[in-house]
Amino acid sequence: MNNTEKGKLTAGVDIGGTDIKLVLLDNRGEVVAQSKIDTDARRGPDQALERLMEAEKSLLTSRGIKQQDLRALGIGTAGPLDIARGIVVQAPNLPGWEGTPITEILTRGLEIPVFLENDANLAAFGEHRLGAGQGSDSVICLTLGTGIGGGIIIDGEIFSGVLGAGAEPGHITIDKGGAICACGNRGCLEAMASAAAVARMAVDAVKEGRGKIISELAGGSADKVDAETVHKAALKGDADAVQILEKAGRSLGVGIANMINIFAPRTVVVGGGLMKAGHFILEPAKEEALRRALKAFTQGVSIVPAMLGSSAGAIGAACYAGHKIKGL
Ligand SMILES: [Zn+2]
Repeated sequence: MNNTEKGKLTAGVDIGGTDIKLVLLDNRGEVVAQSKIDTDARRGPDQALERLMEAEKSLLTSRGIKQQDLRALGIGTAGPLDIARGIVVQAPNLPGWEGTPITEILTRGLEIPVFLENDANLAAFGEHRLGAGQGSDSVICLTLGTGIGGGIIIDGEIFSGVLGAGAEPGHITIDKGGAICACGNRGCLEAMASAAAVARMAVDAVKEGRGKIISELAGGSADKVDAETVHKAALKGDADAVQILEKAGRSLGVGIANMINIFAPRTVVVGGGLMKAGHFILEPAKEEALRRALKAFTQGVSIVPAMLGSSAGAIGAACYAGHKIKGL
């Protein structure tokens, strides 16, 4: 690393229920190093944050970078969070982390400014700065996994909302009489267009004697059907599998249309594990969204696949840290 880059690095950390991802980002937006450690959440926050700081230091050492060359660290986890005080308020995936002053512990240990944000918001910020939303100042990011998460960037800033939760686009109602969602509501986007929703629709199809290839791939057992099975069956030409993915895509499109009408974004970025089947989902989603949303808003809006993959949260955290220190 040459001298001009020194002192211009930021670190990004994404704390998930299973693992903690770390990245180092230089001032040109290049990821110069990254690593991953187990969260081991049950052992509590203190040991995890201690191991995180060790991992961060060894990442610097591995690239011959001194600790003082790191300017700031951004850190993301699932909320709700007290953003201003840097405290985890509730932690569904991290038992025992409630009330942990993450920012204070890491600032003391690393002696650099530390900024906490919601993980989905940081993933959206990463896509906005360095991914599929690059060049757009207003970006909506949707992540299709078991559930549906998301983040909203307005005029280049994260929309944090109450308790850092930002937006929860997975729980906007798409069909008032639709399937029951994990949140208790009916017809949420998450209940219609997530990987779990795709799997549920496929299980129903198999039980009704449809989806022959889905059933074959699952060895005849409806319990073994997941979104991946549906995707594979669709690739093999199973018309029911294709229809299920298209239905999920159309529900997604309704959700996107609603969000376009509220936020008038330049770019809608769609990522997450279910986007492996994006070929079957994104086109119907686009068609539905562009048909439903206000024409004034759809002109010039791009609906595109995410680019940063599972590192989006950590990369976004590093971008966010850089963004925040410029404001200090
Ligand atoms: Zn819901």
